[in-house]
Formats: sequence, C-alpha cells, structure tokens
Amino acid sequence: MRGTVLYGPRDIRFEERDAPTIVKPTDAIIRMAATCVCGSDLWPYRGINPVPQPTPMGHEYCGIVEEVGPAVTSIKRGQFVIGSFFASDNTCPNCQAGYQSSCQRAEFVGTAQAPLLRVPLADGTLVATPDVPPPDMVPSLLALSDVMGTGWFAADAANVKPAKTVAVVGDGAVGLLGVLSAQQMGAERIIAMSRHESRLKLAREFGATDIVTERGDEGVARIRELTGGIGADSVLECVGTQEAMTQAIRSARKGGYVGFVGLPHGVQLDGQELFYAHVHLHGGPAPVRRFLPQLIDLVWNEKIRPGKVFDLTLPLDQVAEAYRAMDQRRAIKTLLRP
Ligand SMILES: [Zn+2]
Repeated sequence: MRGTVLYGPRDIRFEERDAPTIVKPTDAIIRMAATCVCGSDLWPYRGINPVPQPTPMGHEYCGIVEEVGPAVTSIKRGQFVIGSFFASDNTCPNCQAGYQSSCQRAEFVGTAQAPLLRVPLADGTLVATPDVPPPDMVPSLLALSDVMGTGWFAADAANVKPAKTVAVVGDGAVGLLGVLSAQQMGAERIIAMSRHESRLKLAREFGATDIVTERGDEGVARIRELTGGIGADSVLECVGTQEAMTQAIRSARKGGYVGFVGLPHGVQLDGQELFYAHVHLHGGPAPVRRFLPQLIDLVWNEKIRPGKVFDLTLPLDQVAEAYRAMDQRRAIKTLLRP
C-alpha cells in the first residue's frame, strides 16, 4: 500500500508503507472512502512543530469496514463508519462524561492519509451510518471526523443558545463550521471574522449575519461596536495563536463564554486580565465522538452540508499538492480520494 509520510518541512511523500493489520483484538481495518488534510497538519508541515523522523500523516477518515478483530462486537464488516482522531473506548469515566478525546485508553489515529487504516477500540470509536451513503454525501460525512465535530464543540463549549450573539475568530474550515454549528444551535447573530472573499461567501452561506474584517484590538473594537459596547455572548476561538485567543477573550461580554479549539501555539494567558475578563473558558481537543450520532443524523437528513468546506478534491497520490494548496491558502480544505 502507498501512504502519506511527512519527512520534514514541506516534504510530503506518497510512498510504499506496510498495509495495516489487526494488532489488537479490539481493532478494525477500514478502507478509506475519503480522507483530507487538516489545518493542524500544517503545523508540522511548516516546520513549526518539529518532525524528528518520517511520520505518517492524516487523522480524518470515513470508509467501509474491511476487517474486525475477534473482540469487536458492534462494528461489522461492510458498514460505512466514521471515527474521530482519538480512538476511545466510550466506556471509561472520561468518555461517560462526554470527553472521549481524553479517554483513559485514548490513542491518536494518525495514519489516515492512506487507502487503509487501522482503528483501535473499534466498538467505542466508530459510528456506522444507517446505510452506505450516496457518493455526494461522503464529503459531509468525512467532515464530521474532525472539522465539523470540532466546530460544533467550539459552539457547544461557548454555550451557544437561541437568540444569542456569537463571534467566530478564525476563517479556516473549523471556524466556518463553527458558524454553521452556531446557526444550527439557533444563534440570532453570528459575527464571522475574515477578510478572504471565498471564505466570507461560505461563512454567509453557513449563517453568518455580520462580517468583521479587522483583527486584533481593532477586531475587538468592531465586535464591541456591533454589540452595543457589551461584547458577544459566545466567542469561538478556532485558530490557536496568541492574537486569536486574546481577541476571543476580549470580544466576550462579562459573563460570556469562550470555546477554544485552535491547537495552541505559544498562547500565554495573563492572570490579571483573565481575572477581570469575567469569562467562562472551555475548550481543548474536541470530543468528536460525543457529537457523531447527532451530526450523522443531521447530514443523513440533509439538514447540514459541512462538506462544502472542501473546495479542492484531489486523488490521494497528489497529497503533496493538497498540502501546498492549503499552505498557500489557495484552498480552504482539500479532500483526498484513494
Ligand atoms: Zn474512555
């Protein structure tokens, strides 16, 4: 089998690798219907996270179960399944609390940019769709594996409710799907922060009612202006930089909520500022597994189409171009077909 391997900064190769096999009795092997490149894959790709050795890539996946280990009981061969980037047993106390990405037995699923994938803890990790989906639904189901689940968690953590005002920091795929999530949760006003035409168009399609093109302190000032000087009830931080986090905290009203899902890079919080900000902070790696049944239902019944964030589709063997296009911001998110 050929799969994706990152060798170092901007050095992505599609090369021969061992095909995965059942290692533990709770494993499943799935044949990929589609996979994709994540914004977080760009951190090591750009050399911001070191790559000490050649590293297989990819953590977003959906496909058909090809084989299951002898201890797997609920997941069956032939099912179309979706799972999260963290395998989870879905039974431990952390899973039961809805934090499957902090499962006591969590394992990162990180070799998905390949035609075949081993998924640990298959019964806890994978959720099957009602049937094998039509091909045009696959991108939206794939989006649930990470970006849509992460955008949804950002909105959930930020306590988005009907009639509330929501601000979204970040116009990547997660931010855009944070807009869609807020819209689904009934927010009245959704302020998207972006200055890119194609992203703004999609943000509006997903339910953004206002656009703020300013960043940093100017962006904060603009949010305050739009909310009568108060700030937003809920702010979704979908970037992970110091600027974005500061902007998110400062854009929230007193007693407001910040849901943060951007993978933090060099983010430091000032205790004094946090003390007087009077905000609820909740975030982390999204417990996508918690939301999968509900999100599959929304996609299956054509209530949402999160697959619209894929504005470039390539064959899997052109994965290097997929990374380049996202690195250069020519694409919001690239879907890869084996
Ligand atoms: Zn668990």
